[in-house]
Amino acid sequence: MIIIMKYQTPLSEIERVCDELSNQNITPDKSVGKDKVVIGLVGDTASLNPEQIQQLSPFIEQVLRVKKPFKRASLEFRHGEYSEVVVQTPNGAVTFGQNHPVVVVAGPCSVENEEMIVETALICKAAGAKFLRGGAYKPRTSPYAFQGHGESALELLAKAREVTGLGIITEVMDTADLDKVASVADVVQIGARNMQNFPLLRKVGATGKPVLLKRGLSATIEEWLMAAEYILAAGNPNVILCERGIRSFDQKYTRNVLDISAIPVLRSLTHLPIMIDPSHATGKSEFVPSMAIASIAVGADSLMIEVHPNPAKALSDGPQSLTPEKFEQLMLEIAPLAKFFGRWTMLPFATTMSTHWLHEFVDSAK
Ligand code: PEP
Ligand code: MN
Repeated sequence: MIIIMKYQTPLSEIERVCDELSNQNITPDKSVGKDKVVIGLVGDTASLNPEQIQQLSPFIEQVLRVKKPFKRASLEFRHGEYSEVVVQTPNGAVTFGQNHPVVVVAGPCSVENEEMIVETALICKAAGAKFLRGGAYKPRTSPYAFQGHGESALELLAKAREVTGLGIITEVMDTADLDKVASVADVVQIGARNMQNFPLLRKVGATGKPVLLKRGLSATIEEWLMAAEYILAAGNPNVILCERGIRSFDQKYTRNVLDISAIPVLRSLTHLPIMIDPSHATGKSEFVPSMAIASIAVGADSLMIEVHPNPAKALSDGPQSLTPEKFEQLMLEIAPLAKFFGRWTMLPFATTMSTHWLHEFVDSAK
């Protein structure tokens, strides 16, 4: 259930309504929008009577029931206003959200050694990425495959952060590692395989750290949003959803199937910002650029791209990793398209863009 307060309701009245509801064993969750304040009610709201709640204050404009099972994640919960996740990085605050530039997150699948992670971070930054990604703890199908360097890799990420000022996104797999991961990460990643690890979701929810929640391998959109609900319900509003491809019947040519329709569907269901990861979705570097372009066209707020200085030698996910050159080229290609949609910041070398077809497209659209 949500309560929409009238325009310019005094703060004291909002607090009074919240106090009254708390006394009825309901948790009020205030969301302050540009014009209005919406109070989300969480708890056993089935027995509440909207008409009675309406009587609590003359400043209440409307009382609505949220029918979806995901309450806090639902768009109604914020009365149709999309949320933003603001992340502080050494280079300044970066905002994930609909009215902001597309945030590019780039880096290797795994942190391999100091030289490679610092070198990759510098390349990613020069090309316009705002975050460095890199796994310290890797979820691998085979127990014999490289599992990540763990804690020592976190130190290397911290070093790359210090050198470049980029924010860090890295995965936590185990609740026991959360404090260590959160001490280095600016955004903590919950990987596809852990999307429904409920104790882990609760624990990242309790930290308040921004969380990147990847879609499970075979998770429905509703299961994914319910997973987000765990984090939100634990008190952490800073959740970014990441579509990274799902399982389907034809995976001969791609690793997964990028569910591009998830973006407009999510937009109709949730206020949370959305990232697309075309690297894990396609599993092949040759298909990453076109899917990145499609992601921008469909309105993604952020992109995650795997980049490796030498993909052939990568300890994990080499086939889907872009070389530095290919990444720079991709950034040049997506810049005019994102600009066209009003969602790009200046690249260091934005003025030297090549004569790509996108230029013609943008010019012809003027
Ligand atoms: C990753 O981002 O490195 C990763 C393992 O992704 P996913 O959980 O989407 O497979
Ligand atoms: Mn990977």
